[in-house]
Amino acid sequence: MTSPRRTFAIISHPDAGKTTLTEKLLVAGGAIHLAGEVKARGANRRARSDWMKIEQQRGISVTSSVMTFERAFDDLGVITFNLLDTPGHEDFSEDTYRTLTAVDSAVMVIDAARGIEAQTRKLFEVCRLRSVPIITFVNKVDREGRPVFELLDEIADMLALDVAPMSWPIGMGGEFEGVLDLETGGVSRPEGDSRNFQGKVDTDVTLPERFAEEVELAQAGYAEFDAEAYRNGDLTPVYFGSALKDFGVAELIDALARHAPAPRPQPAEPAPIAPEADEVTGFVFKVQANMDPNHRDRIAFMRLCSGTFKRGMKLTPTGHGKPIAVHSPILFFAQNREVADEAFPGDIIGIPNHGTLRVGDTLSERADIRFTGLPNFAPEILRRVALKDPTKTKQLRKALDDMAEEGVTQVFYPEIGSNWIVGVVGQLQLEVLISRLEAEYKVAAGLEPAPFDTARWVTGDAGDLKAFADLNRGAMAKDRDGNPVFLAKSAWEIGYVADRYPKVRFNATRER
Ligand code: GDP
Repeated sequence: MTSPRRTFAIISHPDAGKTTLTEKLLVAGGAIHLAGEVKARGANRRARSDWMKIEQQRGISVTSSVMTFERAFDDLGVITFNLLDTPGHEDFSEDTYRTLTAVDSAVMVIDAARGIEAQTRKLFEVCRLRSVPIITFVNKVDREGRPVFELLDEIADMLALDVAPMSWPIGMGGEFEGVLDLETGGVSRPEGDSRNFQGKVDTDVTLPERFAEEVELAQAGYAEFDAEAYRNGDLTPVYFGSALKDFGVAELIDALARHAPAPRPQPAEPAPIAPEADEVTGFVFKVQANMDPNHRDRIAFMRLCSGTFKRGMKLTPTGHGKPIAVHSPILFFAQNREVADEAFPGDIIGIPNHGTLRVGDTLSERADIRFTGLPNFAPEILRRVALKDPTKTKQLRKALDDMAEEGVTQVFYPEIGSNWIVGVVGQLQLEVLISRLEAEYKVAAGLEPAPFDTARWVTGDAGDLKAFADLNRGAMAKDRDGNPVFLAKSAWEIGYVADRYPKVRFNATRER
């Protein structure tokens, strides 16, 4: 039986409490043994490979993963939640962007003591690009934090959003007493049974006077929750809580169930695909290679957009390749992962394959549509790859192609010369590249400055393109898929050539 879906991502800056919150969400959702797996996953990671060490050293999560849990509500029935984890670090905003293409909403976690940080802001902008509505969770209110008004104003100012406080912390730090639900007037207290969120712990509360005033001001001073404004991405409801002390978490699940959008129609050609359509369709938003170091297989993560997927079903990637029989899909259900052999729109399916499936691929029964809107971003850092052992050229090429497919880094093969160039949006992607080259491909390589600063995909008439490329051969390259790329020494140069060649377009993104 299908139940309503809420497919959402958690975004936050490192250390805001995303991992802790994820565990508590899973516990509150009844997926207790899966919460154990969050830890198990941590242990596996340690064993996996070098680049995972980067995660550990820096306390960031580089990879995104999927966790599914269910929760029964008295009035709503059972709801299935698909939680997609995202890398917290801004260097991986490209990865986050792709994950956000697969969700219908997001939860933004903010540390009450730190407020909105530059990284959070960048992640938020990624959400906005994709019109993903956001619920804000202000975490760590059990500690001394910034004044609540200041925090709310900061969210509103920095993100140009209306904020609607849904709850209010009664004191912070040492004075902390609990969180007041502004709608019902109930207070959840840390020592109360906050997991039993459908009945508020304390409903007949007289607030200490100075908090009563604060709450009155808050209600007068901020927007009221408006479901439509939230879904349009113009307003964020704000909840306060503590992931560590486990309160406010149940209220967050409740908010997701009540307000977060169900699976939405997805942009596609020739027409958007509604979740109600009969045909099974989906798109690959992430490919993860070498999840198991003993097997060189890859998992393609597909978001199901329409139809009822059944194990063994044949799906065809649009535009390339033969139908693939999906015999061993990985479904991320918490309770019964062995018997879950059906999936519904909004669900994520892991499809093991040997490199046939790529990020951005559309999969469907009839191969007659194509999902749109999964771009590559123009890299902000370019480096020349210097191979330490020249006999490893073939392995290096394979590795660079694989990483480009996975979206770890982009690769550019210049028309002249054999200095391959990698491009990234953030520095950490380069570190991941180098350690994975060594750990997984046994290729020792270094990075050297490239004579270029950024890249643009060039498009236009074949004749115009050729004329341009012929005159700029030293700056022309091909990406992983053979698309022509102009490597520029500076942003200024792009402006300059764009003026001189008005018939050629210089694109900062490319649809995959
Ligand atoms: P992530 O990097 O966003 O995944 O953050 P973690 O979940 O790893 O949390 C970072 C640190 O903050 C850890 O030491 C947590 O124990 C701590 N932490 C998380 N939530 C809370 C909270 O609500 N209150 C307090 N005091 N500490 C918290």
